[in-house]
Amino acid sequence: MFKSIPLATALLLTSSATLANEQPNWATCIADLQKTAKSEGLSQQTIDTTLANVKFVPRVIELDNKQPEFSQSFENYFTKRVTDWRVEQGRKLYKEHKVLLDKLAKEYGVPPQYLLAFWGLETNFGSYKGKMPVLDSLATLACDPRRSRYFTQELMQALKLKERYNFAETDMVGSWAGAMGHTQFMPSAYAEYAVDGDGDGKADLWNSTTDALTSAAHFLQNLGWKRNERWGREVTLPADFSYTHLGKAEAQPLTRWAELGIKQTSGLPLSTPDMQAALYLPSGHTGPAFLGYDNFDVIMRWNRSTFYAIAVGHLADRINGAVALKVAPPKMPNLSRARVKELQIQLNDRGYDVGKPDGILGSKSVKGLQAYQKSQGLVADGYPDESTFKALNVK
Ligand code: CA
Repeated sequence: MFKSIPLATALLLTSSATLANEQPNWATCIADLQKTAKSEGLSQQTIDTTLANVKFVPRVIELDNKQPEFSQSFENYFTKRVTDWRVEQGRKLYKEHKVLLDKLAKEYGVPPQYLLAFWGLETNFGSYKGKMPVLDSLATLACDPRRSRYFTQELMQALKLKERYNFAETDMVGSWAGAMGHTQFMPSAYAEYAVDGDGDGKADLWNSTTDALTSAAHFLQNLGWKRNERWGREVTLPADFSYTHLGKAEAQPLTRWAELGIKQTSGLPLSTPDMQAALYLPSGHTGPAFLGYDNFDVIMRWNRSTFYAIAVGHLADRINGAVALKVAPPKMPNLSRARVKELQIQLNDRGYDVGKPDGILGSKSVKGLQAYQKSQGLVADGYPDESTFKALNVK
């Protein structure tokens, strides 16, 4: 959570070669971390034993520095995450944990299907919690200049958790970036939002599903989850739709979307309570369209990815009995960074300012692309399909 760590990463990292002291300045860095730990009020024993013994893990740096060569197409992302197996498993686990989940819905306002969807997406309902020693990973990242400050704070929180709950180092395992347990909480979220749901005196997100689900509900409540509201929904756009308002920055009142002819996929009109909603087309105009409500933004505070938010929302709906998407995500190639970068260069050359070309399709690029598509009589959905690449002479 807090960063996109693909589940696949957790799967691959069941073991890692640890080569101590390969990192230059490791000893100096650990000495500095020990000072920080002291000023943070950690005990001398933790500092002398735990912190002095953390190991540098080259693989963690390798993974952290890895620049993806492409961004996955929505179809590739979505079909791997929202699977029939996960839907079935979610329904089965709802029955199994019904008393708890219904209680959590009442207490925290987050319905069962959402908690199950997060659990399913984060760790396949607890099957893949990650096996990397968290303190080693965090110390390694804290000693790397890239995001030293953030990971130093997370390391301090992890050490405090260790003291507070008397966890063994060997039990504190997780993703390469330090996310832990059934719902992959980073240490700071663990420290602040984990709840001892089963009342054994310890918030244990690795071994207690009750603690983990209660903590997820508590966390979502604190991220601003709105009771009695959906995440959003798949919608049907009218044939002549103009795609002027795309994404979070262009959110509109639901009444406005209804005026523009957007309907529920059943054909029924949108219900129009006084709410803002943003339109998302994760695979362009040929794919499914979604309106994201306030709870969509809450999901994105857990993981800043629109694909993730759609996957959580839809998996939750499916667990709750809904059918598959009306418009299946179309098969599309993954977007290579090099290709998107070339597209950005071409747009800039033609006077559509999309900022410094970086190979990532951000909101500025989408805007520029839409303006270009419009000028060429292409569908102005801001999605670089093959006809757009062709028009811009991008191979
Ligand atoms: Ca507990």
